[in-house]
Formats: sequence, C-alpha cells, structure tokens
Amino acid sequence: MKIHEFQAKELLKRYAIPIQDGITIDNLAQAEAALDQVQADFGAEQFVIKAQIHAGGRGKGGGVKFCSDRATALEKINDIFGMTLITHQTGPEGRLVKKVMVAEALDIAQEFYVAITLDRSSGKDVFMVSSEGGMEIEEVAKTAPEKIVREAVTPGLGLLGFQGRRLAKALELEGKPARQAAAMFQKLYTLYREMDASIVEINPLVVTEQGALVALDAKMNFDGNALYMHSDVVEMRDLDEEDPAEVEADKYNLNYIKLDGEVGCMVNGAGLAMATMDIIKQVGGSPANFLDVGGGANVETVKNGFRIILADENVKAVLINIFGGIVRCDRIANGIIEAVKELDLNVPVVVRLAGTNAEVAKELLSNSGVSIISADHFEDAAHKVVAAAKGA
Ligand code: ADP
Ligand code: MG
Repeated sequence: MKIHEFQAKELLKRYAIPIQDGITIDNLAQAEAALDQVQADFGAEQFVIKAQIHAGGRGKGGGVKFCSDRATALEKINDIFGMTLITHQTGPEGRLVKKVMVAEALDIAQEFYVAITLDRSSGKDVFMVSSEGGMEIEEVAKTAPEKIVREAVTPGLGLLGFQGRRLAKALELEGKPARQAAAMFQKLYTLYREMDASIVEINPLVVTEQGALVALDAKMNFDGNALYMHSDVVEMRDLDEEDPAEVEADKYNLNYIKLDGEVGCMVNGAGLAMATMDIIKQVGGSPANFLDVGGGANVETVKNGFRIILADENVKAVLINIFGGIVRCDRIANGIIEAVKELDLNVPVVVRLAGTNAEVAKELLSNSGVSIISADHFEDAAHKVVAAAKGA
C-alpha cells in the first residue's frame, strides 16, 4: 500500500526525523489560509507548491513549483489543483491532482538520496544512500551506480551505529551533520521495521544553507500482508489513487492485478495465475489482468470476478482456468452460467476446468446453452483464447 508524501512525513515526525513540513489542502478555497499558516509557522516568504499523488517524478512533470512570492503561490496552487500530472511513474494517462501541499521554500546546499528496501537476493534489508540525490537519481543509478552506497542490515540487529556513521561518511558529511545523519538513519530503519514498510525513501534529504538536515520529500510503501497490525497506516489509504477495478476486487476478497495485454484471466491460486500468464505469452498473447478467485470460490465470486474483468476495455477474450481442489468445478460452472446470462457478454470466453467434479461441470456448461468455448487442457485453452482475442 502506498501513501502520500505529506502522510509519510507525519510518520517521519513520529520518529523524530526532521522534515520539511507544510500544509496539505484539498481544495482551492483553503489556499489563502494555508499560505497564512505557512507564513506564520515558518516565517516563509517564498513557497514551494507540491502536487500530492502516489507517484514520484512530480518535479520533472511540473507538479512541484517554486514561488518567489505569495501571489505566484496562489496562482500555482490554482494551476496544480485539477491538473493531470504525468510523470515517469504514472503512465501516459497521468494522475488527477486532488491534494496540494503548501510549503516553505528552503535554501538548499546539498541534496542526498536515502532509501531502505528489501534486497530479495540476499534476504536482507538494504540501506542505500547517494550524494547525488534529487531529481536525477534514476540517471545516477543507470550511469554511475557506484555513486549509490549500500549497507546491508543484519536481521535482528537493526542498523548498527557504525553502519549509520559509514553511510553518513559516504555522503561526505563531517562533524555535527554527520552525527545527525547517522542517528537519523538508525531511526529511519526503526521506522521501516516497526511500520512493516516495504520501501522508505527520502529523496532528497537536504542540508540547507543554514546547515540543517531535513527530509524534503518522503515516499513509503507498506507490506499489504502486515496492514492488519497497522490500523493507523490503513487510515491513510487514499482510494482515489488506486485502480478502481483493484479497489472493487478488494471488496470481494478477489486478488486482481491490472496488466496491459488483451486476455482477461480468471484463475484460482497465485501459482496457477503465474502459469496461466506464462502460457498465454508463450503462445503469442498477452494477459490484460489476472484475477485470482481464491480457494473458496462460489457463484457470487465468479460473477463479481467476471464483472470486474469485463469492465476492462482492453479485454478482447477471457480465459477461465480453474483447478478444482477444494473448490468444486460444478460450482464454478454454475457461476459462469449465471454470470454469462446476467452480464452483457461481448467477448469470447474460453473455459478450462480440471479436478473435482470437472466432468459434471462440463456437462452443466454444454447443457446450459451459453456460448463459451470449451478447452480440454491448459495448452489448448491458451491457444484458443489467444486466437479468440485476435479475432480468429
Ligand atoms: P519529486 O521527487 O516527486 O520530483 P520532490 O519533493 O523531491 O518531488 O521535489 C523535487 C525537487 O524540488 C527537489 O529535488 C528539490 O530540488 C525541489 N524542492 C522540493 N521542495 C522544496 C522546498 N521546500 N524548497 C526548495 N526546493 C524544493
Ligand atoms: Mg523526490
């Protein structure tokens, strides 16, 4: 789960990590009051106006604006509200800006990159810093990866004092800022662990002209499987920022992931989902999504799943690939029949059912009169659905 910059900063504050604070508003009517408050609280004369969306690269996309006076700030708040912000992380369709942060503009001396995430190959959390922080960090990662310094965290020990100091040294900090940075890195790691984050990123962490060390931007993602322990994080969820079909699927406990191909996939179990996507690719197609109806699928789950898959305009054909273990194929078949009768089916549907009661299911389907394409086995199903998607 992702959260906004302003929310990530609230969490940083909780762990006593210095942040560039601001006032976040969700409509234009609040602009004057926000500017007043930023002037009163921080003595700001110059402002930075920042779009709040769940994607990075806002600066380059025009979603972060420096304003040398109040009138310009008002103008930029007006511009940014309601703009469709396109960044390298939003995709070409961009994201509508519904929240805006008003902050004081700081005099920046240096910008650093700081991040923590799990390195799956070593099975350890890895702390990364770079003296080349800011908006070009992706370029740095590509062209000069040696400028990103890593420190692996030993499970159970946390980020140790010497590791914090080593990271601060990699940023060429000395004296007080170095000690502050080292202590901050340890707190940041504690936050990452305690909050079950999957990514914590501060880019940039800045040293101001006045010598203060401040988190200017913050990004956090959380492990969805741990959210039941963090109701405060769950409260930060912003459904406006999520794919509507994924939100809808979540309501019915379906795992739905949107992809960019043309074959809709209804499967049970993540393993079968992966295999289904692989085989679709192998025979020359491309999955539009995968929807995992889980182990306890019934008529309702199948119907809801169908609705969600068909709502995706990219779907040119649907493959239902279910292995009946605990779930019985005849129930799935009844779900398919009801769904096809109820919903306006405008694309071909290929069905492959195997396992418990598969024979009964086949009979139900063929006696039902609904127009589906039956497949005998996995590969047959993949060929049929890809051909159907291509209009064959
Ligand atoms: P993003 O990473 O989405 O582009 P950032 O919050 O990192 O957004 O802002 C982009 C850049 O804008 C920063 O690297 C920094 O140079 C500048 N910036 C952001 N906030 C401020 C601020 N309060 N004062 C001065 N410059 C800022
Ligand atoms: Mg940033």
